[in-house]
Amino acid sequence: MGEAKLLRCRECGREYPLLKLSTCEECFGPLDVVYDYSAIKLARENFAGRPKSLWRYFELLPIRDKSRIVDLGAGFTPLHKSQRLARELGLKHLYIKDDTVNPTYSFKDRPAAVAVSKALEFGLKAVGCASTGNLAGATAAHAAKAGAPCYIFIPRDIELNKILQISIYGAEIIAVKGSYDDANRLASQVADQCNLGLVNINIRPYYVEGSKTLAYEVCEQLDWEPPDRVIIPTASGALLCAIHKGFEEFHRLGLIRENRVKICSAQPAACSPVVSAFKAGAMEITPVEKPRTVAKSLAIGEPADGAYALKRIRETGGVAEAVTDREIVEGIRLLARMEGVFAEPAGGVTIAALKKLVEEGRIAPDERVVCYITGNGLKTPEAISAEPPKLIEVEPMLEALTGLVAW
Ligand SMILES: *Cc1c(COP(=O)(O)O)cnc(C)c1O
Ligand SMILES: [Zn+2]
Repeated sequence: MGEAKLLRCRECGREYPLLKLSTCEECFGPLDVVYDYSAIKLARENFAGRPKSLWRYFELLPIRDKSRIVDLGAGFTPLHKSQRLARELGLKHLYIKDDTVNPTYSFKDRPAAVAVSKALEFGLKAVGCASTGNLAGATAAHAAKAGAPCYIFIPRDIELNKILQISIYGAEIIAVKGSYDDANRLASQVADQCNLGLVNINIRPYYVEGSKTLAYEVCEQLDWEPPDRVIIPTASGALLCAIHKGFEEFHRLGLIRENRVKICSAQPAACSPVVSAFKAGAMEITPVEKPRTVAKSLAIGEPADGAYALKRIRETGGVAEAVTDREIVEGIRLLARMEGVFAEPAGGVTIAALKKLVEEGRIAPDERVVCYITGNGLKTPEAISAEPPKLIEVEPMLEALTGLVAW
């Protein structure tokens, strides 16, 4: 049994039972899942024989019945100790959390697995989401596995491979002529009227819980010594808040001794409402009207959890940094060449922000830093197509190679 107890309003503290709710009736604040932590008896040794997926943290996920989860094997992805990129940047302890290797090739399989499972638990017959692409693929795949109809709301101009992927799982795709924020607004109106489980809208409190496992895994993989700093690509801010909650929970349960993780946000310059507010010392987020960036998965102009992300960054002593599209593409190339990990632009954002922070002396050389790489580069070939690959074209004869290659 999971140990989720109730939903609590993040603003006014009002409590609700664990139902299909997402905002407080009193103040419209977002609701968070609260657990009965005293009932959770978890020791480090307990994890040894558990599934190598996010379901190894079942007690800390808001699902009642383990036998009915929808499981494609999301999570428990590698944490690579960086050698070459670390040396290039002058860092001693750099780690790459490689979430490009999830079932649908982004971290969104984590929240989608939890949310689709929860939707079925609620007895909902169909699921869906509003998405910049990755959540759509993840939700559609889990819906396919569950045999549930799936309705996807995307802005029309996202990457082709993401659309192909969503469609192959059999989902209905509603391509909105507008931005993500337009697609999200439309989906929210549908959510009010239909009996649909829209994973990041009307069951959002449950959805975000899946992403906490990105913090749990890093603790386990670093031998229960959490890092000094994490860098998180940020769109709505949900992922950042979830990772923060994950470290807090492991601390509260005594699984890690200290939690001094500085939570840092990375955004594309053309859509950086959280970074702008951080730099301006503002408490509130000013929406970005028409976000246009190569990092389409991060193009959310009105981040639902933006103000909360900002708070987490400040409270933990973290920083927020933005990078240009050119730096993002360089970040993708750098990570691929130095570490053998091919990321989509969101990963380029993380690496470019890391580079900038190190160069400006805002990250010390001996800090233990984890970079979250959240999506796979094969989903976004257009991002790197400006510089075509260099080929050595030859006739199929050994002589043709003379002088061409330095073996
Ligand atoms: C969704 C997404 C994020 C972050 O999303 P939030 O809306 O901030 O939770 C980061 N990287 C990738 C690749 C994504 O798809
Ligand atoms: Zn409230």
